Amino acid sequence: MKPHPATKIIHPEYTAPEGFSAFPTAIHHASTVLFENVAAMRSSTWLDKSIYTYGLHGTPTSRTLEARLAAIEDGQHCLLAPSGLAAIALVSLAFLKSGDDVLIADNAYGPNRDLGEWLARDYGITARYYDPMIGANISDLIQDNTRLIWAEAPGSVSMEVADIPAICQAAHARNVIVALDNTWSAGIAFKPFAHGVDISMQALTKYQCGGSDVLMGALVTQDLKLHERLEVVRKLLGMGVGMDDVYLILRSLPSLPLRFSAHDLHARKIATWLKSRPEISKVLHPAMPDCPGHETWQRDFTGAGGLFSVIFDADYSEAQTDRFVDSLSLFKIGYSWGGANSLCVPYRMKAMRSNWTEKGQLVRFNIGLEDVADLIADIEQALAKMG
Ligand SMILES: *Cc1c(COP(=O)(O)O)cnc(C)c1O
Repeated sequence: MKPHPATKIIHPEYTAPEGFSAFPTAIHHASTVLFENVAAMRSSTWLDKSIYTYGLHGTPTSRTLEARLAAIEDGQHCLLAPSGLAAIALVSLAFLKSGDDVLIADNAYGPNRDLGEWLARDYGITARYYDPMIGANISDLIQDNTRLIWAEAPGSVSMEVADIPAICQAAHARNVIVALDNTWSAGIAFKPFAHGVDISMQALTKYQCGGSDVLMGALVTQDLKLHERLEVVRKLLGMGVGMDDVYLILRSLPSLPLRFSAHDLHARKIATWLKSRPEISKVLHPAMPDCPGHETWQRDFTGAGGLFSVIFDADYSEAQTDRFVDSLSLFKIGYSWGGANSLCVPYRMKAMRSNWTEKGQLVRFNIGLEDVADLIADIEQALAKMG
């Protein structure tokens, strides 16, 4: 029987020849994944990463990205989530249940704190915030029901560099899991597993993407049990990622180390220049001595990125520092970072932190890939407009 044209366009006759070879990873879109026969379907389990069962659990495109991300951080396993925040939520939902306690660094990514508060209010969990400079003394805060510690080094706005090995050692002595938001270092400047971390979280939205256009997150682990627990909860929550987005990250990944070191170089030049300015009282860049935890950064990190903050002299009001930010022209006002464009955001720290004692206004810079002299000239003209 000759098939109808409608049937023919659904059953293609063309398949790519063996031997076609190129650098890009193929984009495999799939919801339905086909099984050879019923027996193969019945014997397949979705947790088995050597096979494919359904698009939600990945295609060769997403598995390729997962393998590369695990390799960057010297991890064994990786799973993708629809955003950095989704990855954070996945960890908390996978390892906390009613009656448990979670310790969250006071300088953690704001929405991670919000998540803690929501779990505390509606799900019978206690969430407590600790001073990021606490180090080994975190053991004093660990209770019998503490299950998870969230750390971030440096904190994404105030930039304190926590002593991750000391926190991990204290946690492991009490069987507590440590999850690190490792986005600032992109997994390049800080190797989480060499410093004791159990789960490394990345907002791929930042440097891995680099294009200011994709939202995605990743969780890297060395321990298969932790990974499988995260996979189970990811599946229960139905979190998947789009393969076109995965492809965009794969396309950016080869230039990640080069981009990261360019951000680092540009940011340190600008941070050093800012330190010489009378308007600025502190430069909170982990590679500079003003930054709490600077020595820890020197000990544990091999680089920095493009993100740092400054504290203005306390004589400048919020209205004045807002005018500074509004007067910038190359630096745009917007959240997120890690792309080619420089960004600048003023923060109201008192509303974000349990104990914030700095008197001056805090402004955060994301240094992009523009020419450094042009960026400095832009900052200089905006400082002159503060009045
Ligand atoms: C941006 C960011 C996140 C969240 O990533 P999204 O993909 O925007 O959800 C988490 N942690 C840090 C430190 C971030 O900068």
